[in-house]
Parts: sequence; C-alpha cells; structure tokens
Amino acid sequence: MKVAILGTGMVGRVIATKLRMLNHQVILGTRSVENTLNNEKKDAYGNVSFKEWHLQNSDIELKTFADAAYEAEILFNCTGGGVSLAALEAAGKSNLDGKVLIDLANPLDFSNGMPPTLNPVNTDSLGEQIQRKFPMLKVVKTLNTMNAGLMVDPGKLKGDHNVFICGNDEAAKATAREVLQSMGWKPNLIIDLGDITNARGTEMLLPIWLRLWNALETAEFNFHIQKN
Ligand code: NAP
Repeated sequence: MKVAILGTGMVGRVIATKLRMLNHQVILGTRSVENTLNNEKKDAYGNVSFKEWHLQNSDIELKTFADAAYEAEILFNCTGGGVSLAALEAAGKSNLDGKVLIDLANPLDFSNGMPPTLNPVNTDSLGEQIQRKFPMLKVVKTLNTMNAGLMVDPGKLKGDHNVFICGNDEAAKATAREVLQSMGWKPNLIIDLGDITNARGTEMLLPIWLRLWNALETAEFNFHIQKN
C-alpha cells in the first residue's frame, strides 16, 4: 500500500519506519522538502535530527504535504494538533477526498506552559474539526492515547492494553483496524467507540495521560479497560 505520513516529527518517523518494515511504500509529508532534509537540529526530546534519521532511512521518500497526499492511498496525520488543519489545507482537498486519514494528533496548547491544555475541548475535537473541514475525507481517530513506541509495538508492554478507534465511515474504520492489527494490535483490544464525535473522549484522555507520565516517570504505559 502507498501510505503518506503527514508529519516529520518523532511520531511520523516511528510510524513511517514501522510501515516500511511491513513492506508498505511510505512517503513522509512536510512543508518544505529542502528545509526538512537540511534540518540538523535534534528535537526537544533529544531525538536525532531529520537529516541524520533520513540517512538511515533513505528508502522513505520525503515530499511536500500536497505531493505526499496526492500519491497516497491512505494517510496518517502526525502533525502537531494546533497546526493539523493548516497541514491538511496544504495537502489540498482534492488530494484528500475519498481517502482514509488515520488521525493520531492531539490538540495540545502549550502557550501557557506545562501541562498543556486542550483546544478544542468538551464540545468539539480536532478529529471533528478535520472531518468538518474535509467532508469527503474519511477520518479515523486512533492511537492518540499512547506513546509513539507503543503505537507500533503494543507487545512492548506486558499484559493486555487497549487502543480506541472512532470515525463516521465503517469501511474506513475496518481499514484502520487492519493497519492496527498489522502493527501488532490484537482485534479484541481495539475498542470502537462509534462516530467521530468520540474523538472528544480520546483527546480528553490527554490531561490524565500527561499526569500519569509525570507520576510514573515513564511514557511506557497505556490504558487497559476491564469489564465483567
Ligand atoms: P510535532 O512536532 O508535533 O509536529 C511536527 C510536524 O508538524 C512537522 O511535520 C511540521 O512540519 C508540522 N508543522 C509544524 N508547524 C506547522 C505549520 N505551521 N503548518 C503546517 N505544519 C506544521 O510532531 P510529533 O512530536 O511527532 O507529534 C505529532 C503528533 O502526534 C502531535 O499531534 C502529538 O500530539 C501526537 N501524539 C504524539 C505522541 C508521542 O508519543 N509524542 C503520542 C500520541 C500522539 P515540517 O515537517 O515542515 O517541519
């Protein structure tokens, strides 16, 4: 499958590497190919610069958001939540229409420092904003409630833990499920919450996720839903 990953940060790179390992053709989308290829700065978490990373992953193509979206059969939104709409606008409506977008971004607002707040929140979500702005795009919100390493390697954590999924299009959710399963998610641990308005719930898990990260002093944990 031809997959476009919109976003060249740590998460986009982790997803891209995994999908490449799974033999998909992977294109990373960015604002400026030249600037990103020449980026020698480590990110805020100390991850290697894009330039260094790409030298080790040169079979992953880098294109503009629009060129990546144009070629893709399926897309991932791995851009910052506050800029996702701008990134998708740059990708271009005609390149998105009819395709599945796996949206794992969180609309975290760091403008007032740590911990960040959510914007939108309660009565709206980023998943819904994307769906409203691009009505022909099939948005599936998933994977946003855990650390990137676990998204692509759930077996890293001992025991069962869950991933949530929501979206308006059943066929798109089935596609997203297949992708999740190929990355190691057991079918019974994927919880379908319903339509895209449920993105409010999963995005609103971020405030507790961030506090757990602080309390547990590790990002390698996840939510496990237990029922009788
Ligand atoms: P990030 O730094 O949040 O975003 C990087 C991407 O955003 C880059 O591709 C960048 O474009 C693009 N971007 C920045 N400003 C832009 C603008 N004004 N217009 C359009 N695009 C712009 O990357 P990240 O840390 O990998 O996180 C990606 C997403 O995953 C976030 O929404 C985050 O909340 C979510 N998430 C992260 C984790 C985690 O483990 N860190 C877990 C769950 C969810 P360029 O390529 O041009 O620089």
